[in-house]
Parts: sequence; structure tokens; C-alpha cells
Amino acid sequence: MSRVPQIRCRDLNEAPVNADGEYILYWMVAFRRTQYNFALDRAIEWSRALDKPLLVFEALRAGYQWASDRLHTFVIQGMAEQYRRLEARPGVRYFPYIEPEPGQGRGLLEALSERAAVVVTDDFPSFFVPRMQAAAADKLSVRLESIDSNGLLPIRAPKAIFARAHDFRRYLQKNLPDHFADVPVIDPLANFRVDREVSLPRKLTSRWKPTRLDDLASPATLVSRLPIDHDVGAVSFCGGAKEARRKANTFVKQGLGAYGEGRNHPDQATSSGLSPWLHFGHISAHEVFKALVDREGWSPAAVAPKATGSREGWWGMSLGAESFLDELMTWRELGFNMSSKRDDFTRYESLPDWALRTLAEHADDPRPHVYGLDEFEAARTHDEVWNAAQTELVRTGRMHNYLRMLWGKKILEWSPRPKDALQVMEELNNKYAVDGRNPNSYSGIFWVLGRYDRAWGPERPIFGKIRYMSSDNTKKKIRMSRYLEEYGGRQASLL
Ligand SMILES: Cc1cc2nc3c(=O)[nH]c(=O)nc-3n(C[C@H](O)[C@H](O)[C@H](O)COP(=O)(O)OP(=O)(O)OC[C@H]3O[C@@H](n4cnc5c(N)ncnc54)[C@H](O)[C@@H]3O)c2cc1C
Repeated sequence: MSRVPQIRCRDLNEAPVNADGEYILYWMVAFRRTQYNFALDRAIEWSRALDKPLLVFEALRAGYQWASDRLHTFVIQGMAEQYRRLEARPGVRYFPYIEPEPGQGRGLLEALSERAAVVVTDDFPSFFVPRMQAAAADKLSVRLESIDSNGLLPIRAPKAIFARAHDFRRYLQKNLPDHFADVPVIDPLANFRVDREVSLPRKLTSRWKPTRLDDLASPATLVSRLPIDHDVGAVSFCGGAKEARRKANTFVKQGLGAYGEGRNHPDQATSSGLSPWLHFGHISAHEVFKALVDREGWSPAAVAPKATGSREGWWGMSLGAESFLDELMTWRELGFNMSSKRDDFTRYESLPDWALRTLAEHADDPRPHVYGLDEFEAARTHDEVWNAAQTELVRTGRMHNYLRMLWGKKILEWSPRPKDALQVMEELNNKYAVDGRNPNSYSGIFWVLGRYDRAWGPERPIFGKIRYMSSDNTKKKIRMSRYLEEYGGRQASLL
């Protein structure tokens, strides 16, 4: 019997297992890690069951939307680390592939799968991944399985789509304990032994050259040769599982105490900062949870007997830990709930009816300020706080969470129509934020427009019943003088 829960496994096609195949192919597209990864667990199970070596294929396309030095560098840093980890493993071969030109990688997956017994891949419900995998499923003549290692709750466990965080939290409190025991193996390759190696025909590796470690280890040189957006530069933090683990452990040891209240103040910046690594799958939510559990000395016996949907008190952990888990579990996995169940989750029309109605009623209200994408992008608005937040995003690849909400609300207020605001938010968030293009990019952006929220009064121009936020109030409420010094005023250079 498989250790990977059935509910996390999905067949993407009806093709058979090829008993004559030479290896198991793990097509790693989203869980870019070798630890705490159900998809890798599943691939290893197949390897053991069929006594075949494992080929880990990790590719990075050149032609996806928003491909830039920033995103490529982060992913490549992770790939260099995987290369070093995997190259010495008996029975495992790593095939990293950085596509040199859009379209040049076409046919590679099919060529690799022709020699495979089974293909296993990552079930990630966002960006181009579901489309790409559906297209592959039609073409492959061997079984293609997709495995969910996104979070603690399997994305297919709830049947419902949750419209409010409170309802989802209550669902989690009732149902998550059933999944506590299902944890991916910490280091599944540690005890992996298959006495055969993967060999690939010269014809294949000369047509699609695996990227060399030397190249992966020098991402600046590598990305400079690629036809991607060089204006969005690499960030100061480094991709990969090691850095993600270091950050998670430091946060759990030092950051939890101040997390609850401190998280809202840009001058304190007490949040974990983990979203870029979570997005690219360099670290799993299970691993972060485990670090927290160890720190708190927690066991499932500590959870409250009744599910109330309340943000505090259910886990039986410290305040900081509960507050953090509310983000990591409730809010993060709420986004995966929506994106795995609604194909239209990135479309304006997927907003709740009350939000669509009130935004439509106020769509023609006069706007005191109107900006287009270029002005927003260049942080050229009249508002110092907004410009600082945008500058932080462009310069660093991140934006402080509280300011991210204000940033979105003002784009709604200063765009000609709500749909224009959606386009601007999506473009800027996904182009510049390292954690963009994620289910939670759309939770955040659509929250600005009313998703997961309720109607608020008094009804206002432009916003109608959508929750309103102002820069003046933000300045009064949160500590941000140092932040403004760094990113605002005369410092607001985007470089
Ligand atoms: C307009 C807008 C756009 C956003 N775009 C993104 C995005 O592209 N990618 C993204 O991951 N998050 C996005 N968010 C949610 C949130 O701002 C970030 O997840 C958070 O700031 C990441 O910082 P952190 O890792 O330090 O979070 P922490 O506070 O340390 O939280 C831990 C983890 O929980 C999750 N999380 C935290 N807050 C939220 C939230 N509000 N909604 C969903 N998950 C959350 C993240 O995975 C995060 O890494 C957006 C929010 C808004 C309002």
C-alpha cells in the first residue's frame, strides 16, 4: 500500500504503466525540493516497486509570462543545490534543463517519458502548470500521475469552495486532525537504493543539453544569455531549500514571540519572509509546521475538542504560533482551496455577487486621481506611502503584508474601472514579487476587490461596500518611519 494518501494522488491520463520502461520519471515543476515532498515519495515508491532507477527532471522554460532575471535566478539557485544533492545518489539521475529559447524544450518531456515506466509530477493549481500538464497528459503514452504536496490539508479533501476564512478555519479545525499523521518523508532519498543507473541516449542529451552545474552555479551569467526580462533584476535573497530552512528555523526560534502584533509594522518586519520559498516549493508547509511543533513542544492532543472557527485557542500553542498558523494554514490553504476548484479564479467575474454588484454601481464614480499601468509601475503617484510600497516591490521583490493591502486598495481607487485595477495588480504583483503567480497572489488581489470579505458601511464613492483603506490612517496605525526613509521620498529610486 502506498504511503502517499490516495486523496493526494490523481491520474492525469489513462495510459498504462510501461513495465519495460527503464526508469521512473519525476517531472518536478512546483515542489522543487527533495525533502518533505509527497510527489518525490510517490516516485520513489514506484522505483522500489518496479526496481527501476529514478530520473528527476527539473526544467525552467524561457517563454512563460513574466520570466525575468529575478524569477530565473531564484529558481536556478535552487537547482544548483539540487544538482549537488542528487549527483552523488546511486540510482538517481538529475536532469536540469534551462530552456535557452522559447520552444526549444518542446518534445523533451515526451522523449524522456518514452523510456519511462511511469511519470510522476506535482499537482500545483496555479499559473501555467495545470494547462501544461493537461497538454502533456494528452501526449504521453505512459501513465502520468499528479501528486498534491501543497499543504497540510489535501487540496481535494474539502468538497466545498470556501467564501470566508472563518468557515474554512472551522472546516480545518474539524478535519485537519485526520491528516496530521500523513506527513511526507523527511529525506526520502536517504535510504533509497536501486542498483541500476539511468542512462540516456546521446541523441537526446545532445538535442536537449542538460544544464551543467557550472552554469547553474553562476546564475548571473546564465540568465544574461536568456531571452527573458533583464530589467527585473535578481533579488538579494537566495533561492533553494537550505536558505528556506535557515529562515524557517530562525523565525521559529526568534520571530514567533513578536509575530502577532509586530507583523503589521513595516519598521519591525517580524513575519517569516518565507513566501518566496513556499511559492517555488523550496520548502514545504509540512517542514515549517514541524519546526514550529518542535519549538512549541506540541502534540495533536493539545487541540481544542470543539471547532469554533476562532483564530486563537484551537491549536493549544503560544499566541505567536497560533497567529502564524492562521496565516500558514488558514489563509494560505484557503487560496489553494479556491484555485484547485475554480478554473476561473483569476477572472474578475469570479468575485462574489455582492462585490460585483457594488463595484458595478460605482464604476462610473469620478476618481480624484487616475493612473495607468506605467505610472503605477514607476511609483509616480501623489501618495508617498503607496510609492514607497511599490518601490519596495520593484527593488526587493517583496512587499510588506499590511502595505500590500493598502497598495491594492489604492490601485482600485485610482484606476479608471475595477477591471483595470485587477489587471494592474496582477501585472505588478506577478512581475515583481518573487512569491507572485501563486494561488495566494489571487487571494490577496481578489481580497482587495471583496473576495473572502463582507460588505462594509458606510457605502463610499468608487468602493461602494468594498472595504476601504487610507494611507493617512495607515501612517497613523502602523510604525513605518524607517520604512519611508528607506523606500519613500527622495529615496524612491526604483533601482
Ligand atoms: C494585494 C495582495 C497581493 C498578495 N500577493 C501574494 C502573492 O503573490 N503571494 C503570496 O504568497 N502571498 C500574497 N499575498 C498575501 C501576503 O501578503 C503574503 O503571503 C505575506 O505577506 C508573505 O509574507 P511572509 O512570508 O513574511 O508571511 P508570514 O506572515 O510569515 O506568513 C507565513 C505564510 O503564510 C502565508 N500567508 C501569510 N499571509 C497570507 C495572506 N494574507 N494570504 C494568503 N497567505 C498568506 C504565506 O504563505 C506566508 O509565507 C498578497 C496579499 C495582498 C493583499
